[in-house]
Amino acid sequence: MPIYEFKCPTCGKVEERMQSGYEPVVPRCECGPWMILQVTPSAIVFKGKGWAKRDRAKVDKQGA
Ligand SMILES: [Zn+2]
Repeated sequence: MPIYEFKCPTCGKVEERMQSGYEPVVPRCECGPWMILQVTPSAIVFKGKGWAKRDRAKVDKQGA
């Protein structure tokens, strides 16, 4: 599930929301305004080194 990061333009508060869809639901900050989407989901999903490598190794083992 992709994680969307929103930021309030007024107070600068950052909020992370895990959402299932292609259409992120924009949360509203407690101080008033709608929050602004900060990052695309892919930037977070592929975070971390060696993730893809480990995954490939697992697949190779199962195939053999
Ligand atoms: Zn705010």
